[in-house]
Amino acid sequence: MNEIIKTSKKGNLIVISGPSGAGKDTVVEQLLSINTNTWLSISATSRAPRKGEKEGVNYYYLTRKEFEDKISKGDFFEYAEYNGNYYGTLKSGIIDKINSGIDVILVIEIQGALKIKELFPNAVFIFILPPSMSELRRRLVLRKTEDKEKIIKRFKTAYNEINEVTKYNYVVINDNVSDAVEKVNSILLSEKCRVDRIEEVYLGNEEEEIHEILVDKELENIELSL
Ligand code: 5GP
Repeated sequence: MNEIIKTSKKGNLIVISGPSGAGKDTVVEQLLSINTNTWLSISATSRAPRKGEKEGVNYYYLTRKEFEDKISKGDFFEYAEYNGNYYGTLKSGIIDKINSGIDVILVIEIQGALKIKELFPNAVFIFILPPSMSELRRRLVLRKTEDKEKIIKRFKTAYNEINEVTKYNYVVINDNVSDAVEKVNSILLSEKCRVDRIEEVYLGNEEEEIHEILVDKELENIELSL
């Protein structure tokens, strides 16, 4: 039997942004465990690892010089300077994953996301927000990964970033992590149903199908209740 519609088997490029403290990393970590058709691209950064972070798991940690060498070699799809450090999306692996049907997730800040939009206009852009600004402040303070000065810097950056939300396709409020994960996963599933992913439509032969109805023996025994 021919399938009525053949859709693209390629994965989507999913870009996730949101202010520090919105909980992007936690949401993405849980998303990866419930949706095995996803792959997280690990970025490179020139910032020092935070306590508990691991090379190749959270980031590839480079010196500024190493990062700049990679920029000049064209190793990045995009990179940005954010709060005094470089962050960049390495090209390697991403296109292969998409071609093999995997949804590739980039967790990046807004300048980088806008560059990705130029390169990949069909990418899906999701913005994650905290339920309120005071909750964002509370989360930044509670995680104890930065001193006061850095927290204030991140908080100020967050205010500017939130104005950019309309450049994204979706917004998800992370009040409760599992609800936010479910919403992001629903977006990924819905994106697979977009009509612009249709590559071929097969409707068969209308006359032949009608002929099948006419000669169907079972239909002859139906008593119609009028
Ligand atoms: P953090 O220092 O908190 O790990 O990250 C700071 C910001 O940089 C976050 O918004 C994070 O999403 C973003 N970021 C992480 N990797 C990349 C990347 O490859 N490119 C860009 N443009 N931003 C990134």
